Amino acid sequence: MTEKLLGSIEAGGTKFVCGVGNDELKIIERVSFPTTTPEETMALVIGFFKKYNLKAIGIGSFGPIDIHKDSPTYGHITSTPKLAWQDYDFVGAMKKEFDLPIAFTTDVNAAAYGEYVSGNGKGSSSCVYYTIGTGVGAGAIQDGHFVEGFSHPEMGHMIVKRHSNDKFKGSCPFHSDCLEGMAAGPAIEKRAGKKGQDLSEEDLIWDIEAYYIAQAAYNTTLMLAPDVIIFGGGVMKQRHMLVKVHREFEKLINGYVKTPPLKDYLVTPKLEDDPGTIGCLALAKKELENS
Ligand code: ADP
Ligand code: ZN
Repeated sequence: MTEKLLGSIEAGGTKFVCGVGNDELKIIERVSFPTTTPEETMALVIGFFKKYNLKAIGIGSFGPIDIHKDSPTYGHITSTPKLAWQDYDFVGAMKKEFDLPIAFTTDVNAAAYGEYVSGNGKGSSSCVYYTIGTGVGAGAIQDGHFVEGFSHPEMGHMIVKRHSNDKFKGSCPFHSDCLEGMAAGPAIEKRAGKKGQDLSEEDLIWDIEAYYIAQAAYNTTLMLAPDVIIFGGGVMKQRHMLVKVHREFEKLINGYVKTPPLKDYLVTPKLEDDPGTIGCLALAKKELENS
């Protein structure tokens, strides 16, 4: 009999990345579908997984989402600005097709879990993972559990202090100049008139960007004092920025807290582009073990 596999769904605002892997969290196959309507996108997702003999599925979804298992709307995407997906019963739709253990968490929690089990958070008792991409979000893990209460964290919307050379008003529809509004990819693009990937490394915008990311690191350090903070997402492909983040962080913290050496403390993902997929596979495996 062929080995039963684990399934992974990284549900993002622009694309759904679906994958299958084995117990060693090796990715065997991975595909991506555009995020359009639930009917269209989910038909492709379900079609992909029907080709495999699965034993559990892990979902990391854009949000906000309902993560409380005893809630009547558990497994739903809730108040997203993506109207077609508002109140969508994601886990319900999957359960209807696949009678399997299904783990459900935020996209950033899943990526955090990937780095925690086999990336730069491995061996730590706590780690925080930020994604700086189309949006900004973060997940925190303590001893293998996600830090959460009435809901999941929304650290991407923390208030940040404005850089003295930054006149941009911010792009978050809820708060204007929160971290996401000032530092996500679209904020860079609106400021500069072109995408981050098309800007030179010498552009002064990276000093501004690093200042905001350093504030996220500063606030996270003061609130959670984790063992490591990992910064992923498209914008962090600008690896040169990490040095600037370290410098700004040192200025902000001003010797008040003695953190681990910054080269080990404020880092990019070890799993490069895979923390989300590997995290979802690991969550699927854990869900199966606990079911
Ligand atoms: P998503 O957030 O949709 O999952 P990404 O993490 O790739 O996807 O984020 C996309 C955002 O990151 C876009 O705003 C894009 O301009 C920006 N981005 C992607 N690659 C780079 C890069 N190499 N340098 C700077 N910004 C980038
Ligand atoms: Zn905001």
